[in-house]
Amino acid sequence: MKGWQKTSFIDYPDKIASVFFFGGCNFRCAFCHNPELVLKPESLPDINDGEVLSYLETKKHLYEGVCVSGGEPTLYPDLEDILIKIKALDLLVKLDTNGTQPDKVKRWVEAKLIDYVAMDIKTSPTLYKQVFPLGLNHEGLWSRISETIEFLKDDNVPYEFRSTLYPPFFPREEWGAIKALVAGAPAYYLQPFNSKVTLAKETKRLSIKEEEIMEMRDYFAQAVGKCEIR
Ligand code: SF4
Repeated sequence: MKGWQKTSFIDYPDKIASVFFFGGCNFRCAFCHNPELVLKPESLPDINDGEVLSYLETKKHLYEGVCVSGGEPTLYPDLEDILIKIKALDLLVKLDTNGTQPDKVKRWVEAKLIDYVAMDIKTSPTLYKQVFPLGLNHEGLWSRISETIEFLKDDNVPYEFRSTLYPPFFPREEWGAIKALVAGAPAYYLQPFNSKVTLAKETKRLSIKEEEIMEMRDYFAQAVGKCEIR
């Protein structure tokens, strides 16, 4: 584990939760706000998983759940063990994911190791390749992401979709394709793009206007249960 926020009132919808951050990611989103966690996780000190879980055991009466986040937490080899230990404390688990590991998500949902999934929708299917690192099998990655989207849309577990409104990933001509991806979801959250700390330098000159954010919210709201700005 590379980061730990002891207590959060906003990361798990309507729950008091502790947040675990795991290093490493198989995406390279230009707007990523955790570049060190993604590019150089080894440069960050390790936080002992056992010590964090022991703390939670002594304070579990103060918490309702745990969010596992990153980076991309599904890539952490010991995550399943950690999920089992969290569930043994009788806490809820929310998984934040980019959707590239559908087999794990399905297995953990079926084993009741996760109770809520927040999946990132980065952009339209056509533009998704821009978040994949060079050298990876782009077609394979997209088909796995699409499999996770369909699994969630089948209502196997409570879930939300969420997007960072990074201008190059949300050109107007792709709004229709993004709307089709999220259609039917109970909730879709939009996060305005912030260029302060990002993975790629070219983001610095980009911004998004408030009117456009509101326009997107109204547009996507037509297809989902609720669409809100975070
Ligand atoms: S934004 Fe999320 S998926 Fe994208 S590089 Fe950062 S941690 Fe990975």
